[in-house]
Amino acid sequence: MIAVRVVACFAFVGFSATIHAALAPAERALVEWVEGKQEDMISLLEKAVKVSSPSEDLAGVRAMHEVFAAELKTIGLTPTWVPLPAGSKRAGHLFAERAGSRGKRLLLIGHLDTVLPGGTFTRDGNVGRGSGTNDMKGGDVVLIYALKALHAAGALEGAQIIVAMTGDEESIGDPVEVSRAPLIAAAKRSDIALAFEGGRAGEGTVARRGASSWWLEVTGPTGHSSGIFSAAMGSGAIYEAARILEGFHTELRKLPGLTANVGMLAGGATVKQEPFTMTATGKNNIIPASTIAMGDLRAISPEQLAQAEAVMREVVAKTRPRVQATLRVAHRYPPQASEPRHLEVLAVLDGVSRDLGQGPVVANNAAQRGAGDSAFAAPHCAVLDGLGPSGTGAHAERETVDLKSISTQAARAAVLIYRLTR
Ligand SMILES: [Zn+2]
Repeated sequence: MIAVRVVACFAFVGFSATIHAALAPAERALVEWVEGKQEDMISLLEKAVKVSSPSEDLAGVRAMHEVFAAELKTIGLTPTWVPLPAGSKRAGHLFAERAGSRGKRLLLIGHLDTVLPGGTFTRDGNVGRGSGTNDMKGGDVVLIYALKALHAAGALEGAQIIVAMTGDEESIGDPVEVSRAPLIAAAKRSDIALAFEGGRAGEGTVARRGASSWWLEVTGPTGHSSGIFSAAMGSGAIYEAARILEGFHTELRKLPGLTANVGMLAGGATVKQEPFTMTATGKNNIIPASTIAMGDLRAISPEQLAQAEAVMREVVAKTRPRVQATLRVAHRYPPQASEPRHLEVLAVLDGVSRDLGQGPVVANNAAQRGAGDSAFAAPHCAVLDGLGPSGTGAHAERETVDLKSISTQAARAAVLIYRLTR
């Protein structure tokens, strides 16, 4: 997933001979190597985008794995395909690793899947178009070419690097505990996780909102409408659901940075719920026996998420007589709050960016960044995301990437990894 707001297309400062003066000779060599590979990077992006790999397309995600695994194999990493159980309805993940003990142990995070199906790539000057160009096959190419630059310079020697490209980042396989276990295990063996989702100019992602889903079910007695408000019949399931939702609206809006959407609602004499459809039956003069509502919840910290859930349960618990209400909350992507260890990595990136003449990099605002895989790593190691290229229209038909930013970001990532693994 990528920024909540559409990431604005921004111009990256191009390479120039003068800015390289602030770099150590070995770092300068990395940047120059990347400069010479701009067309190779675009070719790899084209190859990747031409593989249609929405999360639900198991064969497509597996084919995407083959493309990137072949690249990683050429630079001394050992790729492994980690399949997910059939019940998850998701393909699996690409992991690749090299062993070492020098400097920080790094976990580099990408993903193989896209929201929309694709399969076509078009290039118009510095703009690449197609599903996954921005989110995030462009970022995967940045990750791979940063490693290739380091490999070409012999600078990977002695470093522990784990690459994790999940196959279900855009729509996580159930149960989350199973589908994210390999990523969490890799984070536990790492000091720092660097993630290559698209970024904003001058901003590093150290905090992001999570994503949870909730379902509210209200039931009560049904009968002739003339009996409503009586002690025997109560007020019906629809009035009760309305009371609860109004309570959510009043109470949850008090938590800064939190959002809670009601996505669908159905009430009546009977309600049938399917994954993305609800069907209700009823009449004007029948007291509704059932109401179902569902929505999501996006918090900026684990503490805020716990507080929001407690507030919701409190509202639900105040049920009127004769009705029953149950609330189910499923946590998908955890929120990631900013922490000093994330900011320490950001400070290293800030230094690299300045030395490259790309200007300072500051911490992002959690409320402006959507859920993502780096949040699963964050409890276990330092995390920095947003290292990918810039683009527009993620999760939409019109998705594009700024092709120039792929090479500038790859050069920046190569120097960052170099400094972290000394
Ligand atoms: Zn993404």
